[in-house]
Amino acid sequence: MVTIRGHMLDEFETYLRGQRLYRAPRATFLHHTWSPNASQYRGLGTIENIRRYHLGLGWSDIAANAYTAPDSLVYNARNLRAGNWCHTYVSRSWADVQQRSPTLYALCNFNRGWPNSYGFGIETIGNFDLEDPQSSRAMATSLDVLAMVHKLWEIPAEHCFAHRDAANKTCPGSRVSMGWVRAELAARLKGQTTPIKIILHGTSPPVIAATALMVPRGDHIDDDGKLYVTALHISDSEEGET
Ligand SMILES: [Zn+2]
Repeated sequence: MVTIRGHMLDEFETYLRGQRLYRAPRATFLHHTWSPNASQYRGLGTIENIRRYHLGLGWSDIAANAYTAPDSLVYNARNLRAGNWCHTYVSRSWADVQQRSPTLYALCNFNRGWPNSYGFGIETIGNFDLEDPQSSRAMATSLDVLAMVHKLWEIPAEHCFAHRDAANKTCPGSRVSMGWVRAELAARLKGQTTPIKIILHGTSPPVIAATALMVPRGDHIDDDGKLYVTALHISDSEEGET
């Protein structure tokens, strides 16, 4: 079984890059946990409880590939090396799938295991039959992680599906519109494709101090081509580690 831990987004991107050795997802599937809901979240223990529940169902490990939490952490979960790894089996009739999502219907091509072989599954801690997805930090983190996955494997935003597209459930929650999810995803992908250079002008010649990616709704002000960002001073480590 995998070792699960909580990551900040940038650490999780490093983890995902390591996963590229194993498989190349062609779609993503969004879930909610339903239970636990956001107020029942207690850190890593909550994710380990979900794993215990899944093992109790006879599964080989925790079901989905990642879990996002109300404290904005993302937990790595089922490794992309595993056989069945997205927590989505097509149990609806094919006519039903076709009516709900012609795109998913075409991708599956009558293979009920297609999502579990070619999808990346992400679970959002919350019950979005009741909670508002637009004010959920866990859902915002899921959208950020989805954008990472779509960018890393060059997956179009239209290939982001709901678990309910394949199974007779409300998952990822009846209050979650997939039109909204795909629009948020597309906005993030658009923003993330704009790399910028941070240049220090105090020296001669000016030096490029860093490169960064612009994130929509990030902490910056864009004023007529000039970008104002918040800078943090990081002191040198006395031990020489950086
Ligand atoms: Zn689900």
